[in-house]
Order: sequence, then structure tokens, then C-alpha cells
Amino acid sequence: MQKTQATLIKREYSPSWEVAFVTFQAEHIFPFSEGQFMMISSETESGKKLKKPYSIATTSRYFEQEKEIGCVVKQVGVWGMSEHLVSWLPIWWTVTLVWPVWHYVDSWEHPSYLFISVWSGLSPNVGLFDQLIHTQAFSKIVLIHGERFFSHHVLSLHERFTEISLSDERVSYIPVFSKEKNLPKWGREWYVQSTLDEALADLWNDCSCFLCGKPEMVDDVRRLLSEKWMDKEDITFEKY
Ligand SMILES: Cc1cc2nc3c(=O)[nH]c(=O)nc-3n(C[C@H](O)[C@H](O)[C@H](O)COP(=O)(O)OP(=O)(O)OC[C@H]3O[C@@H](n4cnc5c(N)ncnc54)[C@H](O)[C@@H]3O)c2cc1C
Repeated sequence: MQKTQATLIKREYSPSWEVAFVTFQAEHIFPFSEGQFMMISSETESGKKLKKPYSIATTSRYFEQEKEIGCVVKQVGVWGMSEHLVSWLPIWWTVTLVWPVWHYVDSWEHPSYLFISVWSGLSPNVGLFDQLIHTQAFSKIVLIHGERFFSHHVLSLHERFTEISLSDERVSYIPVFSKEKNLPKWGREWYVQSTLDEALADLWNDCSCFLCGKPEMVDDVRRLLSEKWMDKEDITFEKY
């Protein structure tokens, strides 16, 4: 098993402090494809060992250049790895990253891309999205992300997606909130499923879809997309 030590260098938070874009600087770089996950292992103050998978939210190009690698982590309880990464682990402390694997990757052969996520399912889609923005090898991208509340949105990511979509008409960004009472003007109400017709109207038939997040959302969106015009083999999905 191949691994490297890495130092926590930055956290960018949602207003609620429950979700963070966590960035590490690694001692050694390793090969990966955007969308894959790595295992992160660490130890609590009391010596308890923690180890969990996290999808990589940055690109391999950035890793090679800066040795920096990140993921979007949602704290789902106390005493577990998500609390450790989002709230406890001090900056400059070290964790171990274990080489990534998995199938949530693309051949980059499609003209258009549909990214759909809820909660921390955003993580792998950020890396894939950023790689496309870098290569510019696309005709259309629609990025849909759902949270319960606006306060769960990592603001730095939200601002970046907004800026890119405003400056490039080929990119649409659709933030959706299922429980937000004070819905911002640019936000949509309800679930990501409610935005599919609008998204598909903008996409080519030859489209690659990446779908990640809650199992019920993933199952429902897969069914809806297949009932419309999308082939099952063009839908890559991950449930967590
Ligand atoms: C391939 C893969 C990639 C993943 N990538 C990411 C990622 O990029 N970002 C990320 O935040 N997580 C990701 N996860 C989930 C992550 O590995 C952990 O399971 C999660 O952070 C919870 O770990 P924990 O130790 O804090 O909680 P645990 O101690 O495992 O669980 C604490 C409590 O929270 C509940 N719980 C566990 N997971 C969730 C959840 N997702 N939503 C709601 N409740 C939950 C449990 O049922 C339990 O009651 C990924 C999982 C897989 C399989």
C-alpha cells in the first residue's frame, strides 16, 4: 500500500462551520484522476486511530505543481473522522494519505457534462469541474448542487462557481436549497431533481453525468435521467 504524510494547511468553511474545504500539502505526490478518492488516516488527541475515504476535490495538475490536495468534508457527528477534519485537527498537523482508487473518473470524450451533487457529494465533482475549466474541452457544463440550507454552502466554492458561470455562457451553476426559508435570489427551492428539465434542455445528447451524494437522491436522479434521454452508461455515480 502506498502512502504519504501530508500537512493540513487550510480550511475554507461554510457559514455554519459544518462543512469545510480542507487542503493538505503532501510530502510526496502520487498519480490520480479527478473524481477519485483517497483514504485519510489520523489519530485523535487521545490516541484513537481514524481512517476514512474522502473524494479528492482538486486536480492532479494542481497536485503536481503545488503538492496540494483537498476535499470537501461535511461534519456528520462527533468523535469521528469528519469532526476531526472539520473542527479539531490543528493547522500544520500531519495526516497520512493513502493512494487513491475507484471508478468515478471520465474519459473526457463528451462535449457536455452534467454534475449533480448533494452535501459532501460535491467533493469529486469540484475536481472534475476544475479540470474541464482548465482544459476548456467542453461545449456545455451544468453544475447542480443541493444543500438543506445556504449556511451549509462553502462560500469560496459558491463564489467561484458563480464567477465562472457569469463569465462563460457555456457554464450553468444551479444551487438548490431544500429547507432554506430565506432563499437567496439566485437560489432554487426544493430538491436537485426539480432542476433536471432545465439542465437537460441546455445539454447535448452526448453528455456525461456525474452524480454523487445521498443514496436516495442518486437512485432517484438516475431513474429520472434514464426516463428522459440519458443512457445509463453515461451516468457515473457514487453514494455516500
Ligand atoms: C468513496 C467514498 C468517498 C467519500 N468522500 C467523502 C467526501 O469527499 N467528503 C465527506 O464529507 N465524506 C465522504 N465520504 C464519507 C466519509 O468517508 C465518512 O463516512 C464520513 O465523513 C463520516 O465519517 P465519521 O467518522 O465522521 O462518522 P461515523 O463515525 O462513521 O458516523 C457518525 C454518524 O454519522 C452518520 N453518517 C455517516 N456518514 C454520513 C453522511 N454522509 N451523511 C449523514 N450522516 C452520516 C453515521 O450513520 C453515524 O451515525 C466518502 C465515503 C466514501 C465511501
